[in-house]
Amino acid sequence: MIDVLIIGAGMAGLTAAIYARRANKSVVILEEKTYGGQILSTFTVGNWPGDPDVSGPDLMKKIYHHANNLGAEIRYEKVIAVRDFEDYKEVETDEGVVSARAVIIATGAIDRPLGLPREAEFFGRGISYCGTCDGALYAGRDVIVVGGGNSAFYNALYLADVCSKVYIVHRRDEFRADAMLVDKVRAKGNVEFVMSSWPVEILGDEKIEGLVVEGVDGVRREILASGIFVAVGKEPATEAFRGFVKMDEAGYIIAGEECMTSRDGVFVAGDCRTKCMKQLITAAADGAVAGNAAAAYAGKTLAAACVDE
Ligand code: NAP
Repeated sequence: MIDVLIIGAGMAGLTAAIYARRANKSVVILEEKTYGGQILSTFTVGNWPGDPDVSGPDLMKKIYHHANNLGAEIRYEKVIAVRDFEDYKEVETDEGVVSARAVIIATGAIDRPLGLPREAEFFGRGISYCGTCDGALYAGRDVIVVGGGNSAFYNALYLADVCSKVYIVHRRDEFRADAMLVDKVRAKGNVEFVMSSWPVEILGDEKIEGLVVEGVDGVRREILASGIFVAVGKEPATEAFRGFVKMDEAGYIIAGEECMTSRDGVFVAGDCRTKCMKQLITAAADGAVAGNAAAAYAGKTLAAACVDE
């Protein structure tokens, strides 16, 4: 029987593993894809305290080794369901069943699609959700970034150095992204802002040739480009836990600052839980709280876990 089973090896899950291992509990992390989570696609994190230039992959490599060196075991399995047997939980994966005293859900969030016809068909062939991963494929060509948040602007910042021109298509007349980041992109010189407009049609048959956008005035415009980078936010990766723990309407798992879900012995950390600020640093904070609480639950000392040390 494992003490603390963590689902997801992003910032929240790996930090939880560090805290639970330091509390001397056995820890297994189940990860469907690869360790590191969403920040793997960020070229320069920018707001990680003390290391403003660190890249997402470099930071996550360090945190993975930290957890691993402390003895946290990582298994690459997809979680299908969790069942509650009061004294312990049973987690069903595509490889079998794992039992644990406490479970932490740290599955994060996944990219939200635009919802346009043929978007899925063009995924990986002109449509991408990650500028730093796929930008090189469009070197010297024109590309479009859709979205007005930090992800869109980090994508644009990277793509502006690789591509000949970058269009940012945004549905409002102001951006959600940090002002400093917007200024950096504005200074690039080869980025055009297409404001108060949203995509309505993908152009091209065999390959992407551009995007038709419609403005608030109802006027449509064709933007010719070889690639479309979609950065219109995230959706929680919580499907496997529907009906098991309470969620809000959007599927985020409901928990307070102490990271406890509606189910005894099940905790949640990171971008898949309800909270107003979904950042790398708050995912790490959640991981610390959930790791500590889950370790205390597994050791039957949860009541004392929230006391300041
Ligand atoms: P986000 O902040 O939610 O921004 C999503 C953007 O897409 C918004 O501008 C939104 O428009 C637009 N949008 C949403 N649905 C749309 C649709 N159907 N059609 C067209 N546009 C649509 O998401 P994000 O940029 O992925 O960032 C998520 C979180 O991660 C944020 O808290 C962000 O700060 C953080 N993040 C941090 C870093 C970093 O610090 N290094 C990097 C990336 C992301 P509206 O503005 O009109 O709603």
